[in-house]
Amino acid sequence: MGAHGADGVAGMPPLRETIATHGLDARKRLGQHFLLDLNLTRRIARAAAPLTEGTTIEVGPGPGGLTRALLLEGAARVVAVEVDPRAIGALHELQAVAELRLTVIEGDALQIAPASLGPPPRRIVANLPYNVSTALLVRWLHAADDIADMVLMFQKEVVDRLVAVPRTKEYGRLSVLAQHVCEVRRLFDVSPSAFVPPPKVTSSVARLTPRPAAARLADLGPLERLTAAAFGQRRKMLRGSLASLFADPTAVLGEFGLSPRARAEELSVADFVRLSQALRSD
Ligand code: SAM
Repeated sequence: MGAHGADGVAGMPPLRETIATHGLDARKRLGQHFLLDLNLTRRIARAAAPLTEGTTIEVGPGPGGLTRALLLEGAARVVAVEVDPRAIGALHELQAVAELRLTVIEGDALQIAPASLGPPPRRIVANLPYNVSTALLVRWLHAADDIADMVLMFQKEVVDRLVAVPRTKEYGRLSVLAQHVCEVRRLFDVSPSAFVPPPKVTSSVARLTPRPAAARLADLGPLERLTAAAFGQRRKMLRGSLASLFADPTAVLGEFGLSPRARAEELSVADFVRLSQALRSD
């Protein structure tokens, strides 16, 4: 604990003060739920270690609690992307202390390619805005070649889907895409009371580590289209739900040793990947 209290980073006021000074009352539209507990933010930062090489990308730093933790945990270079202009002033104060270790970018992370943010290895660490968390993740799955590791906080229900296995109600498109591209691990849950203001639901932190490029599809497009069709009508047999993609779904399923009567949730990730290769990627 430093001279400035539990959330102090040398030379920085406590986070509550930063939030008050910059008028950062949380905006629901931007998915703002702030973490003030430095023990928790440091735990998230440590999960992404080592941060001493390449670029640590933080999406949605807000008042900068997790940013402080990343710096305290020895991140060599943090690039923080925040869409809310109100937070930029607070982040510049932190930048003045962190000097060259922190770069602040005002912008929409959905529009910014990770590769443009700094040299590899690139690690993305974020307490994600829940309204765009899955859209951001799918984008990063497409950019997996440019990312070494991701440690991300989501609503617990999203992490349940990310780690789900076949024949469960959580298993779906996101499970297949994420598990094909990454090794996915649930790390720990975080109660609503850890946030200001508290969200309605429990959160979970997950680590997603992209598999070697040779172990995954170069183009995720066909797998996305296949899983969208299959799980879009998850109660239907695949011979019906895939009729929009294949002229003769029964024959294609048969070729891959799959029953045409099977339902989406019965197929493994590997089954979906093999089947997607029968789809043209354009
Ligand atoms: N990292 C801070 C923390 O842990 O206390 C804030 C996390 S809060 C859940 C999500 C943050 O993402 C907010 O600061 C919000 O303004 C920001 N945000 C929302 N949409 C964004 C987007 N499209 N691009 C970048 N940041 C975004």
